[in-house]
Amino acid sequence: ERVSVSSDIRVQFPGMWNLDGSPWRYLDTAATAQKPQAVIDATVRAMGVDYATVHRGVYARSAEMTLGFEAARRRVAAFIGADEGEVVFTRGATEAINLVASTWGEANLKAGDRILISMLEHHSNIVPWQLLRERTGVAIDVCPLTQDGRIDLDAAEAMLTSAHKLVALAHVSNVLGSVLDVKRAADLAHGVGAKLLVDGCQAAPRIKLDVKALDCDFYVFSAHKLYGPTGIGALWARAEILDAMPPWHGGGAMIDTVTFEKTTFASAPQRFEAGTPMIIEAIGLAAAIDWLEAIGLDVAQSHERALANTLREVLGQRNDVTVFGPADALGITSFALDGVHPHDLGTILDEEGVAIRAGHHCAQPLMQHLGVSATARASFGLYNDESDIEALLKGIERTRRIFA
Ligand code: PMP
Repeated sequence: ERVSVSSDIRVQFPGMWNLDGSPWRYLDTAATAQKPQAVIDATVRAMGVDYATVHRGVYARSAEMTLGFEAARRRVAAFIGADEGEVVFTRGATEAINLVASTWGEANLKAGDRILISMLEHHSNIVPWQLLRERTGVAIDVCPLTQDGRIDLDAAEAMLTSAHKLVALAHVSNVLGSVLDVKRAADLAHGVGAKLLVDGCQAAPRIKLDVKALDCDFYVFSAHKLYGPTGIGALWARAEILDAMPPWHGGGAMIDTVTFEKTTFASAPQRFEAGTPMIIEAIGLAAAIDWLEAIGLDVAQSHERALANTLREVLGQRNDVTVFGPADALGITSFALDGVHPHDLGTILDEEGVAIRAGHHCAQPLMQHLGVSATARASFGLYNDESDIEALLKGIERTRRIFA
């Protein structure tokens, strides 16, 4: 059944095929997902016959587009179990974290306060806090990982103190595929009076989310990893937190009244959306959520976990491969082939029509921890199947022969 799910799905993705009609072995969905025709069509309509600005026009097309744009916000809210007033559209997860650091962070954190992140964070959940450290003097602590590559929440429990005001962790690691127990992380954070920010980039396409049940305070993700367009993502924050956050970027759409003497600001989420928003992208994101939910997050999760498990098992049988991360990794398999730099492997695989990621995956501290400068990473989407794994293994064999 799994195979038929994905072969039905692959045909919906123009990006999954080579020009000669053969399937492209795309195994880099953790970096960005290909787009189904439904999402492409929705964005083409939004850019074409439906196109107009939002929140301003008195003419019917603009009013229609405003309804579509706000419906997209409701769609995102429902997708993550939030209220619509709590969803801020951002350029992506990176911008969402920077927004939190610059507004909530500057308003609430001062020298002497501490932030806890983890060893496996993406640079986008490290650097904004370092920039905040430069501005405010907060300290940053790094939670270690368990042997098999999960954020070690026992260690976090021992590290957390009343000086900690924020815990910021990835829900699913983009390198190891390991999954965080968000509820426990929230309990630990709240136990010392800290807030919990969750980087959901790799979780949103694979885990049915309910931010209220997870009990976190901030949740961020990017649409392009969710089969949606680039240039849009979402920040969710609890209403009372969002309402108290000062504005970030100033400009149109985020104000209530403006005079040269004094400006008053719109309430959230508009307060954080200065300028003409990502109209086309929001429509595309809503279409992506419709598409993904019609298939089911449970189907996505089991399909991608099964493919990652298969790859892990086959690679684990070789004595010239190291596989990183836990056995129940979600759709992501990082590995190293002895004596072959991941970039060389990636280049040879590309000649075979197989696309993997090779590099530090924007997680250089994690690479240091693993004792490597880079890894090879195969990551799966709903459109992949066992034939992609076979193509990858064939490519690894050829690489082995070349380097023998
Ligand atoms: N966090 C994680 C775990 C990611 O995988 C990524 C994307 N690689 C990001 C954050 C950053 O997302 P974006 O570049 O879309 O802002």
